Amino acid sequence: MARRSSERDKNGIRRGFSANNPFSQIITCECCGAQYRRIHWYNHGKKSIVWRCKTRMEDKTVCNSRTIHEELLQQAFVDALNEMIENSDGYLSHLKENLKTAINLCNPQSAEAITARMNQLQQELID
Ligand SMILES: [Zn+2]
Repeated sequence: MARRSSERDKNGIRRGFSANNPFSQIITCECCGAQYRRIHWYNHGKKSIVWRCKTRMEDKTVCNSRTIHEELLQQAFVDALNEMIENSDGYLSHLKENLKTAINLCNPQSAEAITARMNQLQQELID
């Protein structure tokens, strides 16, 4: 979270990470590619926390993504983590290959280029 709060875009502008939630800025809409936002929902007097696509929040006609309850997101994370731990050899070798690819493809002098490539490969690994 500290690393993400210090990240800048290609123009040197902060990416706006200010939340204290570990899922902030890493949940991406499969429909339109926008980031999901954490929302406090009050429905029929019941409070819940959900994650919604930023595009859909602004205009429901543009994106058909679904709303995700935070408990489901947390469970999906735990399931994925457990799967990675159970198959750590496979994931570690995949990670090593990704690191090698990132280092070889990017200019080693450009920390920004490596970070961008690492983010891309990390997303592929998550997918
Ligand atoms: Zn969307």
